[in-house]
Amino acid sequence: MVLDNLGSSLRGTLDDLRGKSRLSEEDIEDIVKEIQRSLLQADVDVSLVQELSDNIETRALDEEPPAGTTPRDWVLRIVYEELVEMVGESTDLPLEEQTIMLAGLYGSGKTTTAAKMAWWFSTKGLRPAIIQTDTDRPGAYDQSKEMADRAEVDFYGDPDEDDPVTIAREGLEATKDADVRIVDTAGRDGLNQELIDQIERIEQAVNPDRNLLVLDAAMGQSAKSQAADFEASIGIDGVVITKLDGTAKGGGALAAVNETDSTIAFLGSGETVKDIERFEPSGFISRLLGMGDLKQLTERVERAMEETGEEEEDWDPEDMMEGAFTLKDMRKQMQTMNNMGPLDQVMDMIPGLGGGLMDQLPDDAMDVTQERMQDFDVIMDSMTEAEMENPRVVGQSRTERIARGSGKPEERVRELLDQHRQMEQMLKQFQGMGDGDMERMMKQMQQ
Ligand code: GDP
Repeated sequence: MVLDNLGSSLRGTLDDLRGKSRLSEEDIEDIVKEIQRSLLQADVDVSLVQELSDNIETRALDEEPPAGTTPRDWVLRIVYEELVEMVGESTDLPLEEQTIMLAGLYGSGKTTTAAKMAWWFSTKGLRPAIIQTDTDRPGAYDQSKEMADRAEVDFYGDPDEDDPVTIAREGLEATKDADVRIVDTAGRDGLNQELIDQIERIEQAVNPDRNLLVLDAAMGQSAKSQAADFEASIGIDGVVITKLDGTAKGGGALAAVNETDSTIAFLGSGETVKDIERFEPSGFISRLLGMGDLKQLTERVERAMEETGEEEEDWDPEDMMEGAFTLKDMRKQMQTMNNMGPLDQVMDMIPGLGGGLMDQLPDDAMDVTQERMQDFDVIMDSMTEAEMENPRVVGQSRTERIARGSGKPEERVRELLDQHRQMEQMLKQFQGMGDGDMERMMKQMQQ
């Protein structure tokens, strides 16, 4: 994830401040240095980093923490607020009938983003359709159609037509029943007159409600000039930053967009249609700082529940933190998490788990690979109700029986029991944090 080490390095520095009733200038300098290092590594513009550190420093020294707030929590709050300020607001995007046109350079991720956005709108109860007008790139039609199928959304394209404007016009006609039309356009290696002319012609035919620019996160801070160029030529209402999973420079791109007149609408972080999230500055930054983002997590859980066909009440992220943790719980979570996406991303969203706590876990604690999960599932079928409720009763002879019954090696059975113990341990640690400063912190954030 983008700016990954900011949360963990900052947490380390902040932890040294635990128990202090006042922060010295040096304490604050240490924190600011840590932030500077992470932001510069993430390719955030130097002057922007300087401005942010000055603000943090001045506020941390001048402002008095409200009663009942520790200096450590107070500094964390200031850092949080300044970072939210740095990335700027999210693009206004009402959930209503609309036409959105995507622009961007070749390879920035437009076609992928069109499908991702369509999928995202479909999860909001709207009926989206993709209109594919890229006639320049061979393969754009097939790729787009295939992704639309995967996202289970309407699609219009015409591989035999080579005028994008005609396709756009016919596409609008053909997708009349859709609520949200996403018009994908061709890209070029650079923003040249030919591309501008083509997009302008499509724009005239389509009359979109919004133009979104798709930018590759690897651009880092040069996202600024690209956003400015597109703004000057066709005008953009928001930006989608893609490939945040594949670069350490994402911080630069995020901050750079805010330096233009534009805002960020979506973030893309993978190649499947579900690897998209709506950009929400406060949730994004709190997750970055390891404070979790329950809203995102809850959305994912809901989505995963819909896919497993279970009732939402069956599993709530907060329930997971309470009471005894049985093998049955573990099985249910494995099934749900399987539908939620990569486990480390999910864990990042749980308050208190995103930061230092994850680092303390053994590397393989979360390494529940697909194959192991399937084995675990089969093994659990060979366990009794009592063993599932209380796996501690499983000793050597029961392990042998379960291994025989499931046809899996004893080693695998022991792995399952270990995995359960580690997850149980992790949840206990989290419960320990529930009453502590993280919770107070979260409350303050929400004020
Ligand atoms: P277009 O030329 O702008 O339409 O770009 P594409 O949508 O074809 O994307 C170019 C490449 O980037 C493809 O291989 C995509 O799978 C990949 N891609 C797009 N978005 C992401 C993302 O968020 N993460 C990763 N890892 N790859 C992406």
